[in-house]
This record gives sequence, structure tokens and C-alpha cells, in this order.
Amino acid sequence: MRKKIVAGNWKMNMDLAEGLKFVGSIDKYFKEKPSKRALVILCPTFIHLAGASEILKHGKVALGAQNCSSEASGAYTGEVSAWMIKSTGAEYVILGHSERRTYYHEDDKLINKKTLLAINSGLKVIFCLGEQLTEREAGNHFLIVKRQLEEGLFNLTEEQMDKIVIAYEPVWAIGTGLTATPEQAQEMHKFIRDKVKEKYGNDCAKKLPVLYGGSCKPSNASEIFSKPDVDGGLIGGASLKKEDFAAIVEALL
Ligand code: PEP
Repeated sequence: MRKKIVAGNWKMNMDLAEGLKFVGSIDKYFKEKPSKRALVILCPTFIHLAGASEILKHGKVALGAQNCSSEASGAYTGEVSAWMIKSTGAEYVILGHSERRTYYHEDDKLINKKTLLAINSGLKVIFCLGEQLTEREAGNHFLIVKRQLEEGLFNLTEEQMDKIVIAYEPVWAIGTGLTATPEQAQEMHKFIRDKVKEKYGNDCAKKLPVLYGGSCKPSNASEIFSKPDVDGGLIGGASLKKEDFAAIVEALL
């Protein structure tokens, strides 16, 4: 059976003290009420990683970063490498998020380079893709997602694909309050799984977790998660409230 996952993307929120306090309360919650089916992952900012790792180390919650450098090490002022992230105890990194594609002009080629580097550094990658509203309105959403898959992922080996979690995040649904309908999500998740099957075969496609992201909240999570190709969610805004995040995790039960 495929792994079910709920990952919280905190984005650029909370200072060090606030963040670690919040990690502590999430850790406590899931120690007392561990999810039976879902792997829970927290993705705070870089400054939180080492402290969060210490707090989470004997608990039920995994840790990830939100980005990494496209370079392994050296004179790249301000960058944080995949290996540095790994050294904090984090296991995951989010790559290809639409905010990085849009505000930092990250293209498929760069995201692919980061993905390979992250995997070769021992991290697992939450690989985000999804179309803009204009692309969906023009009927190009499948073409866009196909390109993001082919150029961002499809030079990986089958073994490397084992380290990938895909997050389908229609850009028009991120932080907007608009959500893809469960049918729209299912249709795209199936498309993604079919493309992976064509390239890597049925076993790889069957094992691949495909998460939905975009204004997921307690009121819509169970309906979206009930679809057969939706294996959980990447949660932005709602991951900043413990009760909402916990309710979304419980929607996978
Ligand atoms: C995200 O940024 O990955 C996301 C899904 O955000 P939100 O849940 O706030 O739409």
C-alpha cells in the first residue's frame, strides 16, 4: 500500500522561538495521538531545522526543508546546501514550489539539478508541480504538468524515483481559498501516475505518493483525500494552526 502523507509547509513564518514552540506542540500532539495511516512531515524555515530536529527526534513527526541550493558547496553566499539540510537530521526537502518558480524564477532545469543533488545527499524530495489559472483556462494544464514531470524528474533512475513524493499544486489554488474539486484533483493525480507508469513501469507508479496542495483545510480535506489517486496533502496556511493541521491529518484516517 502507498504511503499516505500530510506535510506542512510553513513558508516564511515564525521567528526561532515561536517556531520551536510550535514544533514542540505538534510533536506532543502526535505523540499522544499518532496518526494510524499518515506520515506527518513539518517543513519549517532553515533557521528552525536543527532545533526542530532535536525536538522531533524521538517522536512521530518527520522534518523537511522548503528549498536547497542548486550547488553542493562553496562560494555561494546566502545559500544552504542539501547536505547541510541532511546534517540537521531533516529527511525531506520541498522543491519546485510555485512560489520559487514564480518569485525566484526557478525553471525545470534548475529544479531538476536541485532534485538530483538533494537525492544524492540522502534527502527525499517533495516535488511540486501544477499549472497557472491561465494555463488551465486555455486547456493546457495537462501539457504543463507533463512538461514539469519530463523536464524536472524523468532523467532520474527508478531507484531515485523511490525518493520522490509528488505534490500537485494548481497555482490558482495556493493561498487563494480556491480549491481544486476532488474530481479535478483525481483527474490530474491519475494523469501524473499514468505518465510515471509509462516512463518507469507499474510498480514505481503504484508506490509513488501524489499529494494535493492548494487551500486544503479541515472542511475539504476528507473529500479530496477520498479520491483513489490522492495520497494526502501539502498544506500551507492551515499547517500554521495546530487544530486545523491535526484535523487534516485525521481526515486521512
Ligand atoms: C503550499 O504553499 O504548498 C500550499 C498548499 O499553500 P495553501 O495550503 O496555503 O494553499
